[in-house]
Amino acid sequence: MAADLKERLGTVLESTGATWRILAEDGETLEATLRGRLKIHEDRRAEFRDQGPGKSAESLEEPRKLAVGDRVIIEPEERGDSWAISGIRPRHSSLKRRQPGGRRGERVLVANVDQVVVVFAAASPEPNERMLDRFLVIAEANGLPARIVLNKSELVNRSALEARFGYYNTIGYPLHFTSAKTREGLDELRDVLLGRISALTGPSGVGKSSLINALFGVRLRVGAVSSAVNKGRHTTVGALLTPLPDGGFVADTPGLREVGLWGHPSRDLQHEFPEFEPFLSECRFADCKHLVEPGCAVIEAVELGKVRRERLESYATLLAELEASEKEW
Ligand code: GDP
Ligand code: ZN
Repeated sequence: MAADLKERLGTVLESTGATWRILAEDGETLEATLRGRLKIHEDRRAEFRDQGPGKSAESLEEPRKLAVGDRVIIEPEERGDSWAISGIRPRHSSLKRRQPGGRRGERVLVANVDQVVVVFAAASPEPNERMLDRFLVIAEANGLPARIVLNKSELVNRSALEARFGYYNTIGYPLHFTSAKTREGLDELRDVLLGRISALTGPSGVGKSSLINALFGVRLRVGAVSSAVNKGRHTTVGALLTPLPDGGFVADTPGLREVGLWGHPSRDLQHEFPEFEPFLSECRFADCKHLVEPGCAVIEAVELGKVRRERLESYATLLAELEASEKEW
């Protein structure tokens, strides 16, 4: 079947109310409207095959609502020079925000995310492992790989930084020491951002915008809702994709921390600390919560120095939060 020459493929960058801003594959940015229901292009599923684990055709999601990061087919409107979204490709992943009531209220913040990049500063502001753990759990809960960037690394002694954060590397989170100021570690960071959709997150003031600017000379456009504005509200979280000049996108997800775990099943949390996994089946009780239970293999692993104690503390804090929110709904 010959492709319709007028059809174009693009990536959704932003919702601007009634229209969507789309970066077409040829590099042009245009506005398009969505009419009627989203048509999923089943025949495009083949593209995702043989791309490794997590990207099998079976794991693809069928989007019902358009989100930033979606790959869409656009075609010219019959009259005028405007564009219409005529189809959408299946998603291979998404960063979701759940709402009270479970799946029904789920909302996709960014579609087709390849990785979550959590940025902290080595100092000023002082990094906070408990907050870091929260971001990592959000990534795990969405089935997304995460990496950690410690920016402003020129401010702190390197071996102290490695002693403090090296553990995360050993449990599977690649660690980057960067400085937007001295440009240290920037080449390596650029390599892992190129050609992918990265959800960039972390507290404000750690240098996220400075890093993207130093790397690519582009300004990270601040999300439709800043985290300060968003705090305490659960209705308006806007994500925005910034295209990188050499391919790939950075999604600014300022509200991630506030909304990330709301409605997440507490029983799943133990699986979102990857280093707990080898011990989970060894606990004496099948429904062990790894808090105070006798014969808990996770607690034993902490005592043997195989699992960092503070990680179990983060787990306990998050578990209490999730259990409280489960009671609410
Ligand atoms: P964002 O809120 O995470 O986007 O942080 P910004 O990029 O706005 O940076 C916050 C402040 O940190 C600014 O004053 C930057 O100049 C400063 N900054 C950013 N990166 C570095 C760095 O690598 N070293 C130092 N010393 N300061 C930095
Ligand atoms: Zn246990």
